[in-house]
Amino acid sequence: MSSTHMNVADFRSGLRTWLDQHDLSPGPDHSLDGQVAQLARVRRALFDAGWMRYGWPPDVQGLGGPAVLRAVLGEEVAERGLAEPGIYSMVEVLVPTLISYAPPALAETMVPRLLSGREQWCQGFSEPGSGSDLASLTTRAVPREGGDWVITGQKVWTSLAQYAARCVLLTRTGPGHGGITAFFVDMDTPGITVRPLRTMHGVDEFAEVFLDDVVVPADRMLGRPGDGWQLAMDLLPHERSTCFWHRIAHLFTRLDRLLDETGDPDDDALGAAYLALHTARARSHTTQRRLAAGAVLGPETSVDKVLLATAEQRLFDTARDLLPGVLELTDSPWREEYLYSRAATIYGGTAEIQRNIIARRLLGLGKD
Ligand SMILES: Cc1cc2nc3c(=O)[nH]c(=O)nc-3n(C[C@H](O)[C@H](O)[C@H](O)COP(=O)(O)OP(=O)(O)OC[C@H]3O[C@@H](n4cnc5c(N)ncnc54)[C@H](O)[C@@H]3O)c2cc1C
Repeated sequence: MSSTHMNVADFRSGLRTWLDQHDLSPGPDHSLDGQVAQLARVRRALFDAGWMRYGWPPDVQGLGGPAVLRAVLGEEVAERGLAEPGIYSMVEVLVPTLISYAPPALAETMVPRLLSGREQWCQGFSEPGSGSDLASLTTRAVPREGGDWVITGQKVWTSLAQYAARCVLLTRTGPGHGGITAFFVDMDTPGITVRPLRTMHGVDEFAEVFLDDVVVPADRMLGRPGDGWQLAMDLLPHERSTCFWHRIAHLFTRLDRLLDETGDPDDDALGAAYLALHTARARSHTTQRRLAAGAVLGPETSVDKVLLATAEQRLFDTARDLLPGVLELTDSPWREEYLYSRAATIYGGTAEIQRNIIARRLLGLGKD
């Protein structure tokens, strides 16, 4: 198929036919190890067949075409339950960042490794004292003779760090917002220690990352010294555009499952859950269209974040209410997913912070 003529309808129908012919269903291992291995398998197959390359530029072995093709791909993957959407989303978050900020030769070498499932990467932003107030981060990067940088500090809540070959890492090279600098760090560099942390849904999804005198070459800097804050601001909207479309598709599969299990499509609570999800999808659809029209996404994606987190929690609250005792007393998958849905108002910026941004930057309502 030629990318120049690829439109959404052709892409979707070709992809569906291909997926019907190539069984990528996950095996019985639902552990995190199993999910990460399954994701790598799915990405590799989709990359080798070309699907994973659409919507990305040729400089990183993409086949071009509009970004919305990536939304369609993730939607099909989510609807067929081929890969867990949370871990799938790392591509959508980190690849645009590499393309915008890495030296072109680095992006050209590295991005295909992530797209093709040969590597997993992580995002090292949060620190024990710096979550919502990210600009207070203290992990230090100091230049040394010869042009290398030496990094010392600690990150926390770094998703999938124990599987990651590389990390997009924020460090401090000077005071204030303008003193934050990003690096693309190999996770096997001497001085890096990863200690997985268990979430309340019982999975070692994220980790503490300790950095002791980690030497990073100058050509691994993303952008210039001081560009790190802007990189973080540019990255967050990516976390809230195409990945959200994937997640919403995933949540609709859960709504369908809930309907099957409760058997009452007229239930008011199910209707409210549907409405919340549909609202999030309508908003996300607008965001996709804006992206397609070349818009640079910004603080208005906080609205997408609030709508999606609200819809996700409402859906699993509804499951809890309509399936009495199932979450509390059994090992049903509803239990794990309900517990994980509590994180939706924390990761990628908490609900309170999003509302502050909406109030201050979109509505002009002044301070907190
Ligand atoms: C599942 C999961 C995965 C994650 N993955 C990653 C990752 O891969 N990489 C990464 O870097 N980070 C990751 N995080 C971390 C996440 O970004 C932070 O948890 C988040 O930014 C909040 O920071 P914090 O936990 O330090 O909470 P805090 O900032 O300490 O906030 C604590 C509470 O205070 C409230 N609060 C704080 N400031 C204000 C304010 N000004 N006004 C009103 N209320 C306020 C918050 O809303 C929150 O309720 C992940 C988190 C989770 C839950």
